Amino acid sequence: MSYFQVNEKCNGCLACVQNCPARALDFREVGGVQTLLHNMARCARCATCWRVCPQDAVEFQHMIENRWDEVVTHALVRCRVCGEVVYAESLTESLDAKVRELVEPLCGRHKLEQQAGMLSGRIPAAGGGTK
Ligand code: SF4
Ligand code: SF4
Repeated sequence: MSYFQVNEKCNGCLACVQNCPARALDFREVGGVQTLLHNMARCARCATCWRVCPQDAVEFQHMIENRWDEVVTHALVRCRVCGEVVYAESLTESLDAKVRELVEPLCGRHKLEQQAGMLSGRIPAAGGGTK
């Protein structure tokens, strides 16, 4: 959703476009339809658009909302011993197949414990048995 939002009172006068000091607003007229455009990369959040709008149509609060937008979600892999989150599942999918076989879902503590166990010969090494 666009940060720049107007309410139903917008009448298309384009005063906001004409007065935006950052040229962050523009418009398109295609097929008998006018579309107001906003470019967040240019916007300085100066609120001039909000001040000059004769219709009180600019919903400027969206521009200064202190919010976190969800960008992407990944399933998580947990340590198979304690359940602590260790990495995103997609991370292993992007690894080479051979490396993937060797990566065990273990947190730092249990990885260390496993390595200590392997050194003492109590646990077989991953990807092969003890000799
Ligand atoms: S100045 Fe206000 S009414 Fe005019 S186009 Fe911009 S938002 Fe719409
Ligand atoms: S906040 Fe300022 S820079 Fe951004 S669109 Fe409005 S007038 Fe332009």
